[in-house]
Amino acid sequence: MKKLLIKGGRVVDTNSGEEKNLDILISGDVIEDIGENLKSEGANVVDAQGMYVFPGLIDAHAHLREPGFEYKEDIETGSKAAIHGGVTTLFAMPNTDPPVDSRSLVEYIRKRGKEVGLVDIYPVGAITKRREGNELAEIGDMSEGGAIGFSDDGEWVHNSNVMRRALEYSKYFDTVIISHAEDKTLSFGVVHESFISYEKGLEGYPAAAEEVAVFRDVKLAEITGGRLHIAHLSSSGSVDIIRQAKKEGVKVTAEVTPNHLVLSQENISLFDPMYKINPPIRTEAHRRGLIKGLLEGTIDIISTDHAPHNWYEKTTDFNSAPWGMVSLDFYFSLLYTELVLKGEIPLHILLKATTESPARIFSLTDRGSLLPGKRADIAIFDPNVEYVLTENFILSKSKNTPFMGKKLRGKFRKVVSGGKIINVEEFER
Ligand SMILES: [Zn+2]
Ligand SMILES: [Zn+2]
Repeated sequence: MKKLLIKGGRVVDTNSGEEKNLDILISGDVIEDIGENLKSEGANVVDAQGMYVFPGLIDAHAHLREPGFEYKEDIETGSKAAIHGGVTTLFAMPNTDPPVDSRSLVEYIRKRGKEVGLVDIYPVGAITKRREGNELAEIGDMSEGGAIGFSDDGEWVHNSNVMRRALEYSKYFDTVIISHAEDKTLSFGVVHESFISYEKGLEGYPAAAEEVAVFRDVKLAEITGGRLHIAHLSSSGSVDIIRQAKKEGVKVTAEVTPNHLVLSQENISLFDPMYKINPPIRTEAHRRGLIKGLLEGTIDIISTDHAPHNWYEKTTDFNSAPWGMVSLDFYFSLLYTELVLKGEIPLHILLKATTESPARIFSLTDRGSLLPGKRADIAIFDPNVEYVLTENFILSKSKNTPFMGKKLRGKFRKVVSGGKIINVEEFER
């Protein structure tokens, strides 16, 4: 088998932030060696000088809409968008139709991902049957079938005893319960509840709707010892609750989306439905709290919550538009442009939150770094190019993003996924 040698790319140490030009030798689907001046007779050589060489990104929260909503996205288009954005491991959330609440659906999604053959897709199974919050789904069976974690995403498990039993049960399968923390008796509004929402006359969705849900789930994780992961944090109050819980030894981890890290209510149009996401974009003070949480490690990972909706659904009035925006194709460029280049977050923390930390939380021990023996998942990022985000650039079936027309810095040139080299630039033609 022909080996692959990636020469001279910049490799980032996710702990110190130190950068070094190194070579990486790949044999089959495994990284064989990393170091200076590596040689390999007859290997295919990729010149990565002037570019960053990252581990393939891991996106632990995306909506691929298959089965049931293939007009928005499917596993093939979602895979293309992911690989385009440097992602080699992708979690598919279960709020499809039917919802992924059985082993056969878990196996179907895993199999479709392999047939498409671009990224390694892991289904997240539903916590409860039909995501209705009443009766636990077959967590053990789905775990054995390849589910990476469990969530009723889109719904919070309102019944505390059901959530308690899910956390207890998950321990037997060493899996993670992912909470979409939203008390729906508080969250009927469409934008963050604030002075601004009152002024504009829009129904508010207060930060407390998230915070009370986070607090309850943390308490249940504490009494059960189960592993809890909180999806898409939007409130600085939630960061405070998780910081305290971590200090007390509760097994809780947390995630934030690129959208909540770069946008704030003061700086967006509250009447443009492209900005309507759940949880909503909150104020600059909340955004700062999220940045601080990421810098100090209270927030562990960045996941896209890639949520495709087609044009006619999304281009309606703010109140009736569905929640969500797409970002798989360009989220790393967006974070690099808006946070790294503007000095808000150093590159190594961004990298850790998109590679090493999701691998650790979800026990994907074979990936998330460039060490010898790891799966050959590599993303080659050119930080020097600048491009304007257009509909053509986005390979996702849906184009719902408020960042259309934005100038972004840096993009992926080549991606190695499970040892297979993919020239992602070819997708752009
Ligand atoms: Zn959610
Ligand atoms: Zn989601």
